[in-house]
Amino acid sequence: MAHKAEDRTYDVIVVGGGPSGFVAAIAAAREGARTLLVERYGFLGGMPTSAALGPISPFYFDDEQVIQGIPHEFVQRMVADGGSTGHIRCTNPHGSGSYLCFYDREAYKWAALSMILEAGVTPLFHSFVSGVRVEGDRVTGVSVTNKSGTSFYSASVVVDATGDGDVATLAGAEYVVGREADGAVQPSTMMFDMAGVDTAAVKAYMDDNLDDFEWASEMVAVHPYSERLPRQHFVGQGFKRLVKEGMDAGELHLGRDSVLFLTTCHPGVLHFNSTRIQNVDGTSAESLTAGEIEGRRQVMSLSRYLIARFPGFENAQLIATGVQIGIRESRHILGEYTLTADDVMSGRKQEDVVARGYFPVDIHNVDGVEGYGEGGVWAGLDDSYDIPYRCLVPARLDGLVIAGRAISASHEAHGSFRTQGGVMAIGQASGTAAALAALGGVAPRRLDVAELQAALLRQKASLRRDPERAREERRRAVQAVSAALAEGRISAKYLADAGTFTGQAPRL
Ligand SMILES: Cc1cc2nc3c(=O)[nH]c(=O)nc-3n(C[C@H](O)[C@H](O)[C@H](O)COP(=O)(O)OP(=O)(O)OC[C@H]3O[C@@H](n4cnc5c(N)ncnc54)[C@H](O)[C@@H]3O)c2cc1C
Repeated sequence: MAHKAEDRTYDVIVVGGGPSGFVAAIAAAREGARTLLVERYGFLGGMPTSAALGPISPFYFDDEQVIQGIPHEFVQRMVADGGSTGHIRCTNPHGSGSYLCFYDREAYKWAALSMILEAGVTPLFHSFVSGVRVEGDRVTGVSVTNKSGTSFYSASVVVDATGDGDVATLAGAEYVVGREADGAVQPSTMMFDMAGVDTAAVKAYMDDNLDDFEWASEMVAVHPYSERLPRQHFVGQGFKRLVKEGMDAGELHLGRDSVLFLTTCHPGVLHFNSTRIQNVDGTSAESLTAGEIEGRRQVMSLSRYLIARFPGFENAQLIATGVQIGIRESRHILGEYTLTADDVMSGRKQEDVVARGYFPVDIHNVDGVEGYGEGGVWAGLDDSYDIPYRCLVPARLDGLVIAGRAISASHEAHGSFRTQGGVMAIGQASGTAAALAALGGVAPRRLDVAELQAALLRQKASLRRDPERAREERRRAVQAVSAALAEGRISAKYLADAGTFTGQAPRL
């Protein structure tokens, strides 16, 4: 259906329908803004659906649920649809965080689409933003290229949720790429799934060979979820001996020295976050092309090697890769403030908090094949920290708010907030800010932050700890894990802090 010229003016245009973008669009529309969401693919979700990701990492700092609001509603929607386990607790948080939420990727796409449509967002799929109009220092709209040609859409405020900061860069924003010393970005990964796996045999191998794993965890449900989904979940990073044998014999082509695998929402299906491709520039088609080729080489080699040599894979098949290789990191747009490693690690609180961060600093090895501690970084935080509004507002440019992984932050800080809960919470903040600025006729930079915080709280975002609630969440988790241990559903050997769970009454 052709668009009429008069249809092309919006209060807010969100570019990019990933986890930050679809949440931003919902937030903006709920604030009353006429909102357009432009997405290059024909579905929503960004990396979690297009790059075939596995779980949503925790919404939690330890057992405190830090991410609430629209992201929480979204997960609850998938759980209600029978397409997700919701967040289930890891018995060992090292390597994957304190909780993981398994989701079916079709359920993810549908929940996101349903929620934007219910909020009144206008989606525009199969459309790539290839240009930006800037008047003075103000972004006033975007050029969209698709099968119909190139059209201009104007907006009072544009939200850049492209992950790569495409809109901001086209508008002339300053940015940095990757690590400060040398610009190195986190490695890319082509994710894949295998079906027909005897998961019990894989788990038994893991149980018997835990010394061959860098880390591993079992999981315990704290909230109910659909009876149709598997009850037993686990994650592990290891199989190091078999990987070494394969590499030494020239039978295996892989960019890392271990296999990272997880259970999924589907019986007999395992998910693999196990390839590693270095130096992919997610903003260069040539580099992305090279990354796709190398990623697929590693996927084919590892999946064949798993079938040939690994316990439990005798009847397995490779069933899915993504539409594209997974890009963890590219540009960081310079904003009014740049979030630092120290802000994150020390759990710093900020006056203009609009979202909270909670995940350990997780940087996959940028230089080599090894895991954490030997090039990669997995560093726990002193406390949850605040993400200030200033990180979402690009320096100099007006009419633009940044969402998601491209906000103003160092390589190390990005290593923490980049997981889905973090970028969704940032999305809720950026969409709300864009709507308030557009409807109030003020530049995002001049927005009254107290007004923004009040709007976020109305939409049930969490901006500070509720100690009572945190204590209750801890109590519930300890009870669930203690019961699972007492009933033999989990093993003490995977428990990071076994002492807490072995008494009759939980120690709080
Ligand atoms: C390999 C890998 C593994 C990961 N593992 C986990 C995990 O286990 N748990 C977890 O919670 N998180 C994980 N993450 C992190 C998380 O998925 C990302 O940080 C998150 O998706 C970033 O969200 P975003 O909205 O900022 O960007 P993206 O997810 O990159 O979404 C950007 C969207 O914008 C669209 N777009 C881009 N440019 C344009 C344009 N010019 N015009 C129109 N549309 C455009 C894209 O198609 C996409 O839909 C992983 C990421 C990767 C890459």
